[in-house]
Amino acid sequence: MSKSDVVVIGGGISGLFAACLAAKKKKSVTLLSYGQGALAVAGGIIDIFGYDQDGNMVKDPLEHIKTLALPHPYAKIGVDHVKEAVDAFLNLCKESNYPYLGNIRENQLVPTAIGGFKPSCLTPMSIDTNLFKKCTKLVVVDFDLLKDFYAQLIAEGFSKTCPNKQISTITVKLPYETGPHFRDVSALDVARLLEDDVSILNVIEQLKSKASADTLFIFPPVIGETPNNRVLNKLKQALCGNVIEVSAIPPSVTGYRTDAMLVKIAKTLGVEIIEKANVFSCVKEGTHCKKVLTQNYSHVYEYEADEFILATGGIFGGGTVAQMSRMFEPIFNIEIDVPKDNQQWSYQYLFTGKPQPFATYGINTDESLRPIDSNNQLLYDNVRVVGRALGGYDFCYEKSGNGVAICSAYHAIAQI
Ligand SMILES: Cc1cc2nc3c(=O)[nH]c(=O)nc-3n(C[C@H](O)[C@H](O)[C@H](O)COP(=O)(O)OP(=O)(O)OC[C@H]3O[C@@H](n4cnc5c(N)ncnc54)[C@H](O)[C@@H]3O)c2cc1C
Repeated sequence: MSKSDVVVIGGGISGLFAACLAAKKKKSVTLLSYGQGALAVAGGIIDIFGYDQDGNMVKDPLEHIKTLALPHPYAKIGVDHVKEAVDAFLNLCKESNYPYLGNIRENQLVPTAIGGFKPSCLTPMSIDTNLFKKCTKLVVVDFDLLKDFYAQLIAEGFSKTCPNKQISTITVKLPYETGPHFRDVSALDVARLLEDDVSILNVIEQLKSKASADTLFIFPPVIGETPNNRVLNKLKQALCGNVIEVSAIPPSVTGYRTDAMLVKIAKTLGVEIIEKANVFSCVKEGTHCKKVLTQNYSHVYEYEADEFILATGGIFGGGTVAQMSRMFEPIFNIEIDVPKDNQQWSYQYLFTGKPQPFATYGINTDESLRPIDSNNQLLYDNVRVVGRALGGYDFCYEKSGNGVAICSAYHAIAQI
């Protein structure tokens, strides 16, 4: 049996950030996680609030958050904690030598993998949207053998969205052997290759004839594996400072770096991270959770704590389970209020341009993020729900996923 001040369940962005914040408050923290969170799939861009209910782009996310009503998680967290959470995240990244750009008062237009743009608030240094605004010539950099990156498609997209810019593509040759015995090359393979100085020089050699003060090189997400911007800085030095990455089809190396950064910070702060820990149940007395249980093969392990943070994500991460007419959270056995008729869970056409009802389903909580039932009765006094497990918002439509994750984590830990 293990005993800590705080047990965090889930190793996505909300769980990792909550664990770091609790450890910074000198709490002993154990983080139990079955697998990696959505960060490594989704990219490390932090959306705070992108679109309002009518589909209009939000200019100032903080101002917009002030207008939100319950049950939206931001309305429970409150504007002050939203602001503090973003500052805490930016500081953590800076301290870890992997600073983020942007601020909560402004949405930036982040270039996408199809040559369009999406509104987002905080980006890694490798996605500096100011460079995009400044440069008049765009060169989309492809790598021969790299799968799932379509430079031509991106170039065509930008030629429509940025008609005043001059757009071209270039293909960099990779030093890989090819043939039936070799597997496809992923963005992570190239990112690992570029950690080597000779490989960086090889890429620079193939691009430098096109470099100029107003030419921006748009890379796939391959600019190094480790969260330290070393590869980015070397490329920038050689290419007049104008280098950015766009996100690509998952898995995403930009998110992978942020995930690696948070894991490193958590470990440095003394968080005990237990991987492949599938939490399947809890032991409670009244509304007080005493411990949670994990199972590996036939072994059951017990983790006792004063406070528990539930950061297990939504259906995608296994945090909530959907059945016919029912949705529930399986560890604490929390019923989620959903229509009995499954047909009401979604609009007939998925891409309607409206928020989807099913996307807002999640655990209902009080303003301290503790779970409550449909009669507003408190279910657990020492369990706090964070991130995608929360109900009341459609992260995909409004573009608020990682924002709600970090802000709810901050709000939960602020109360411990
Ligand atoms: C394809 C895609 C693209 C996205 N793009 C963006 C974007 O550009 N910007 C943005 O802001 N947001 C984006 N999002 C949303 C964002 O990724 C999520 O909102 C956010 O990652 C949620 O984080 P989380 O920590 O709450 O949950 P998750 O990241 O899902 O993490 C849940 C964790 O809990 C663990 N877990 C689950 N059940 C158990 C259990 N029983 N025992 C132990 N561990 C368990 C999982 O293994 C995982 O580690 C995207 C999401 C997707 C899917």
